[in-house]
Amino acid sequence: MQDGQTPTPDRTAPNGAGATAVNAHGDAAASGTEIDATGHHEGVGGQRGVAGGGNGFGTATATRGGTRVGGRTVIMGAGPAGLCPAYVLSKAGVPTVVLEKAPFVGGLARTIKRQTEHGEFKFDIGGHRWFTKNDALNDLFREVVADELLWVNRISRIYFDGKYVDYPLKIGNALQAIGPVTAARAMADYGRIRVQHRLRPEPILSMKDAYVDQYGPTLYKLFFERYSEKVWGLPCDEVSGDWVSQRTKGMSIMTAVKDAVVPSKGKVVSLIDEFMYPRDGFGRFSERMADGVTGLGNEIRLNTGVERVHREGNRVTALTVSTEHGQERVEGDNFISSIPLTLLAQIVEPAAPAAVLDAAKSLTYRNVITVNLMLKKRQVTNDTWLYVHDRNILFGRFHEPKNWSAAMVPGEDYTSLVIEYFCSFGDQIWGMSEEELVERSIKHLVEDMGFIARDEVIGGFTIRAPRSYPVYTMGYENAVQLVKDYVAEMENLQIVGRYGTFRYNNTDHSIETGLLAAKNILGEQHDLDQVNADQEYHEIKRVREPVGSATA
Ligand SMILES: Cc1cc2nc3c(=O)[nH]c(=O)nc-3n(C[C@H](O)[C@H](O)[C@H](O)COP(=O)(O)OP(=O)(O)OC[C@H]3O[C@@H](n4cnc5c(N)ncnc54)[C@H](O)[C@@H]3O)c2cc1C
Repeated sequence: MQDGQTPTPDRTAPNGAGATAVNAHGDAAASGTEIDATGHHEGVGGQRGVAGGGNGFGTATATRGGTRVGGRTVIMGAGPAGLCPAYVLSKAGVPTVVLEKAPFVGGLARTIKRQTEHGEFKFDIGGHRWFTKNDALNDLFREVVADELLWVNRISRIYFDGKYVDYPLKIGNALQAIGPVTAARAMADYGRIRVQHRLRPEPILSMKDAYVDQYGPTLYKLFFERYSEKVWGLPCDEVSGDWVSQRTKGMSIMTAVKDAVVPSKGKVVSLIDEFMYPRDGFGRFSERMADGVTGLGNEIRLNTGVERVHREGNRVTALTVSTEHGQERVEGDNFISSIPLTLLAQIVEPAAPAAVLDAAKSLTYRNVITVNLMLKKRQVTNDTWLYVHDRNILFGRFHEPKNWSAAMVPGEDYTSLVIEYFCSFGDQIWGMSEEELVERSIKHLVEDMGFIARDEVIGGFTIRAPRSYPVYTMGYENAVQLVKDYVAEMENLQIVGRYGTFRYNNTDHSIETGLLAAKNILGEQHDLDQVNADQEYHEIKRVREPVGSATA
């Protein structure tokens, strides 16, 4: 590991109330394990915490806007967005039960362990770094992860045509990498676009419109088109511009130049260069929240899939769940759903109107398969992520867990790579076997990129994560709105998270919706739709001096 890349223990982590005893979780995953966000997961029975609902905690006292304040709360899904409200409500003494279809907590944000004769390797489902502009969420993360927290330097680059460029794009560095002639063309056509848009403003509809508006046609083609098409599996003019505005709002060549020349109002805090990470993998965040929930006497029921949502008038009265012992009815006062919005709409009884069901079925997701390679080698690169744009290389990006935390590999002579393939049901990549994907990854890394030697590979396996990216196809927002309006009729049901809201939320925004849902149950009033609706680039925060503790 290089200097400046060594993760350091947290400088300020307090001893939080949630820092309960830590158990070992996340057993070795079977090869080719499938983590299905819609919960199509088979497994053995499992249960955390005490059984039953009436556990002596606070009882319902009042109703506010359909929510029974302090009433028994039933949460669907034990990813971060479901566990966060469970954790907050448990601390407030509210009886809560979490129902999780999989045999583990953490959802997409979990960490998998793999035992080998060399020792234990750990893998996130694609590296998960913690970053947020919200101090309350940072405090929660620190409280939960407590003494396991590390600070990690971030060095991410784009690999294209055998060259490297910093990511997120730094204009000077990008122009240098493409050479003076292309750089001059890039700046000239960016200028032309700016003038054109000023004289004849055009609505930004597609992802292509949004990138061209921010960076001009040349830089778009070089640095955004190829990678975006790998991720989404669609031409950029068929993907809504919403994704770009959500992710890179306020970023453009213009703002980069302005920020360099004109002093901005308030200090700019970059969340790009350093991030927080739990020492033993991102999944520890969920596991520790789960420990907090069960330690406070509430219940997390694994292998318990929600199959039906029973509605009477404008209230949800109960759920039917499927367990290893058969079907069961689970009743509650308040309900929070982090299961896919598309699934939720289809399992309500009596059934939703046909238009709502059609809208739910029209929404699609993109899948991810990770190839996890274990290596007898000290380090492959010093990158946090390497984004691979070349079309002849089938995967989209990889990260090296050891660069995030030394505890992710058995010792200093070992490293590993998590290689991400973006795909859809029925396409070439999804149809490849584990063996083919591992071999294909090794071939690219050895022959096309020269990063590793074949005899350094100890082994490899895949994890399939279906439906991991909600796809913003053109016009998707009308379908989402129709489904959300229907769900909103059920006044004691709140939707949270990434799938839960069909919104491209990272963990911070996912748990923010969960946190606000919990606060609503505690008697406050928050509009969950306002989460992740910022007008500013989500990795930049402008604050008045002094700078907050968020980025230290
Ligand atoms: C490749 C990749 C990289 C990422 N990198 C980052 C990153 O660097 N930083 C970051 O902050 N975020 C990152 N994310 C996003 C992060 O994973 C999500 O924001 C987060 O996991 C969302 O949490 P959630 O609880 O909403 O959903 P999930 O984590 O998907 O949890 C949903 C849970 O619901 C369960 N469920 C589904 N159906 C049912 C049912 N019928 N009954 C009961 N349970 C059910 C699922 O099994 C699952 O456990 C990344 C995501 C991916 C795919």
